[in-house]
Amino acid sequence: MLDYHIHITRLPHPENISSILVERGYRANIIACTPKEWVETVAILPIWKDFATPCFGIHPMEGLFPQKKLPHLYELLENHPKAFVGECGLDKRFPGYELGSFQEKSFILQAKLALEFKRPLMIHCVGDYRRILSILEDIGYPQEDSPIIFHRFGGDKETVIRGLQLNAIFSLHANSRKKASTRDAIPLIPKSSLRFETDADESFVPKFFKESSPTASAIADKLIEELSKIQF
Ligand SMILES: [Zn+2]
Repeated sequence: MLDYHIHITRLPHPENISSILVERGYRANIIACTPKEWVETVAILPIWKDFATPCFGIHPMEGLFPQKKLPHLYELLENHPKAFVGECGLDKRFPGYELGSFQEKSFILQAKLALEFKRPLMIHCVGDYRRILSILEDIGYPQEDSPIIFHRFGGDKETVIRGLQLNAIFSLHANSRKKASTRDAIPLIPKSSLRFETDADESFVPKFFKESSPTASAIADKLIEELSKIQF
């Protein structure tokens, strides 16, 4: 089973959880979208051997792109030849979402970085999928070596149709079925373009456990259970 998007270092006991998951055949894209998460993810990667792909970028909730960190991001992409770029994108809940504002600049910078390094681009979008699609078309997508991934997909039919023209991958989360317009759009996605994810982060334990400090093994069990449920 492949978890297409997980923030493993935001869970408690990430080393123990990683070892248990690897043993049980879990595969993952490990997302690192803050400079702190980059460092923590690099530290944990050896546990995953070849069974995880890291994804390095800056999330839209991080505000202005930290220009000082750009050399570090280049270094990470050079040192990890399979790493994806992201997650990055637009989120209407955070500052800088307006047309032409800093969320857009940060997204464009990273989308271009994915093209430069010929890497997949992990996209976060809460808000305007059409704007994301237009930006990508403007800067030269689709490119065979840089597929785009709509993580925690929440778009509608039009998004799927336009996304497929850009060879997008749609990664579904448990919440992807909550919105009627997304529920209607999912059947249009070919199986080959579908993936599944937990997007587990610091909210995973409080959401699924009554006790405040469950064991690593209990958390790993829950991740496996949740991921299986999403692959309806
Ligand atoms: Zn995420």
